[in-house]
Amino acid sequence: MKRIATMLGLALALAACTSGPGGGSPAGPAGGSPTPLIVEGVSTPQSIKDKGKLTCGVKFDVVGFGFRNPTNSQIEGFDADICREIAKELGVEAELIEAVSANRIPFLNERRADLIISTFTINDERKTQIDFSRPYYIAGQSILAKIDNTEINSIEDLNGKNVCSAEGSTSETNVREKAPEAELVLFKTYTEAGQALNDGRCDAVSTDDVILFGLIDAYPDTELKGEPFTTEEYGIGMKKGSTELKALVDQVLADMEEDGRFAQLWEKNIGEYTTKEPELPPAP
Ligand code: GLU
Repeated sequence: MKRIATMLGLALALAACTSGPGGGSPAGPAGGSPTPLIVEGVSTPQSIKDKGKLTCGVKFDVVGFGFRNPTNSQIEGFDADICREIAKELGVEAELIEAVSANRIPFLNERRADLIISTFTINDERKTQIDFSRPYYIAGQSILAKIDNTEINSIEDLNGKNVCSAEGSTSETNVREKAPEAELVLFKTYTEAGQALNDGRCDAVSTDDVILFGLIDAYPDTELKGEPFTTEEYGIGMKKGSTELKALVDQVLADMEEDGRFAQLWEKNIGEYTTKEPELPPAP
């Protein structure tokens, strides 16, 4: 825990030096484009083998799932490791690129990424635009605030408060629905949301509990308030129509569970953040 806290602190310091103000700006080059660009065709196991690499969009700032270790630039985390296992199955190298919340669907439609493995909730609205693998993790949306903040104990308490989150996330939509009077302050990344909580620009950060745990490591004067108030089933995103790739990805997940790799990578990456059993949620 200590090691991660130190690394996240370093990553935050680097982010502060390199990124401009993120508030309200669209996430990534495609985030703000008015007409979504959809490049023809889909990635298939064969097209990925021909290309010689599997390109996965993952988070670079979410400890446990997708995190760039500032000491060696390695991308660590459960999402990153699942990408590596799928690449291994295909006999190609894994290329990991940063996918923030708002550019996940554009990255698939523009075919910049073959897969998005980025704390990505499966929901009906997204299923109209892209395909998902079977779920591989279940998170829940929660609230992070300063320990000494006694006013925030549940989602309703966010009404009238400044609430930070990431643009293009289900976290954003859920706050809009469940606390309509909250003043949402949106960033490209959760790192920026955490910084805003720390320096008082927002009263709370709301997103998936597993993402907030990383922020607690970085800001020990914060804590989760209340219980999770949504169910976020994470799936691997693929461009709409990826029938062959989906079959392969679902098979790799099932094989990983069967031979113990799923539990091993779970323990290595997120074991310290969850008390859940390291097993695949049932396939729909
Ligand atoms: N799981 C949620 C989502 O897919 C929130 C976390 C995130 O933005 O990555 O939108």
